[in-house]
Amino acid sequence: MHPGLQRVLFHERDIAARLDEMAAEITEFYQKKPLTVLAILNGSLVFAADLLRRIPLPLRFESLAVASYQGTESSGIVSFRQSNLPAVSGRHVLLLDDILDTGCTLNAVRQRILAEAAPLSIRAAVLLQKKKPRAETLVADYAGFEIEDEFVVGYGLDFDGHYRNLPVVGVLNTSSLGLR
Ligand code: 5GP
Ligand code: MG
Repeated sequence: MHPGLQRVLFHERDIAARLDEMAAEITEFYQKKPLTVLAILNGSLVFAADLLRRIPLPLRFESLAVASYQGTESSGIVSFRQSNLPAVSGRHVLLLDDILDTGCTLNAVRQRILAEAAPLSIRAAVLLQKKKPRAETLVADYAGFEIEDEFVVGYGLDFDGHYRNLPVVGVLNTSSLGLR
């Protein structure tokens, strides 16, 4: 196991099998709909790349760089790192994010899209969803796995910019942070 991890939650094969199921559901829902997949970067990079290749529909891909985490806590303040939103008016939008924690990030992106564009619909797909109470407006339409409320890294998820390149998702070993 990678020295930065306390334990592995999802191995590559677990993720691949779940992505097959999610992609099948998504493909079914967006048949004959003009679809734009909008990835929230950086965290969803790996998830987006693997999911996209399982959706055999004509679609457009866009991305939006957003930041909200400081260290291992959600700051609640979502900052957009690019001023222009991709053009999504007249399109069905599927937002992709790595993980749903408080829901602030997806909510802020949804609100901004609705304020600046006229999409036909907005749905959200996340690889991970933390088990915690959340307002109904803050849920994901497609969620890969439910996890306990602990800080995870790998498969796109970082701690301080590191660990995004791990092929697995695991719980960060906070006692080994010096090994980065
Ligand atoms: P929310 O806005 O839902 O609180 O948090 C969503 C964002 O916070 C995600 O896009 C992700 O970047 C980051 N985040 C939330 N939980 C975790 C976690 O356990 N690990 C990592 N690495 N990032 C997280
Ligand atoms: Mg993120």
